[in-house]
Amino acid sequence: MRITELLNAGRKIFSFEFYPPKTEEDARRLFDSARELKALNPDFVSVTNSSSGATPYRTVALSGVLKAELGLETVAHLTCVAHTRAEINDICLRLKAMGIKNILALRGDIHNHEGAPVKREYNYAAQLVADLKKSGDFSIGGACYPEKHPEAETLDADIDRLKEKVDAGAEYLITQLFFANDFYFRFLDKTAAAGINIPILPGLMPLTGYKQLENLTKLMKVSVPDVVRAGLERWAGDKENLFKFSVDYASVQARELLEKGAPGLHLYTLNRSRAAIDILKNVKARV
Ligand code: FAD
Repeated sequence: MRITELLNAGRKIFSFEFYPPKTEEDARRLFDSARELKALNPDFVSVTNSSSGATPYRTVALSGVLKAELGLETVAHLTCVAHTRAEINDICLRLKAMGIKNILALRGDIHNHEGAPVKREYNYAAQLVADLKKSGDFSIGGACYPEKHPEAETLDADIDRLKEKVDAGAEYLITQLFFANDFYFRFLDKTAAAGINIPILPGLMPLTGYKQLENLTKLMKVSVPDVVRAGLERWAGDKENLFKFSVDYASVQARELLEKGAPGLHLYTLNRSRAAIDILKNVKARV
């Protein structure tokens, strides 16, 4: 099923994000988590894709297995910055052969960790969206950033670019994670004012370790409110209470988002199920 059909059905939708495992142990954990999360009847799951261009078929393979073996509607992330058009075409043919009907079209980070060369046939996600739209084979989603993308000069400038991505054919958007709902609500107002009228699914991730903070603030430039920092500091030596603090915080966020009209929730799971299960339980969704 196309994600747009789900979003247009008028009920809240819930989704979980996974990444392709690197080791046998990762793989076991991922499939255990996916099976547990399947019991919550998610509307879809999504599978990330490295921006280096080195391993797109891990995403293709995992997307196919999650769909065929577990019957989960799957959105394959597809980054374009390190691929040629011919490579993108090949990946799409394989996704289509696996029965995948949904792609989250992304540019990917240019300075990727793996140092692979960037081919520069694509500079921005909107170009990939336009190519995918022409093929007509997929329902296309895109990424957006309630606090602005780190490279954008201002939020308004970023939203102007986002409008181009939507005009090129993106049918829904999933946000970067955020810890203060005001960012999301302000973003909805601004995108609506800019003429963006497609569903914007909020992305949430409970922090289950203090280390994640550095990544979020330095690389992704996501703001972390003092109350979250204080909680992480307070429970730094106590895994169980740290987990509970983060899940409770994300649950409060989730409840408010849903009550105030968000179309659903996209949970970044890091291939683990427990936090996602607890959050959905706390907001009384699907459990
Ligand atoms: P774009 O929409 O192309 O925007 C990138 C930047 O370029 C923005 O600052 C924008 O304002 C600017 N811009 C756009 N068009 C123009 C133009 N014509 N001229 C000048 N500037 C322009 N990364 C991965 O590697 N793998 C993943 O699986 C992955 N999944 C993600 C899922 C979600 C929900 C989100 C929010 C992000 C994800 N990312 C992933 C991260 C993403 O790839 C990076 O944030 C990347 O830097 C930008 O990708 P984009 O698709 O948002 O790019």
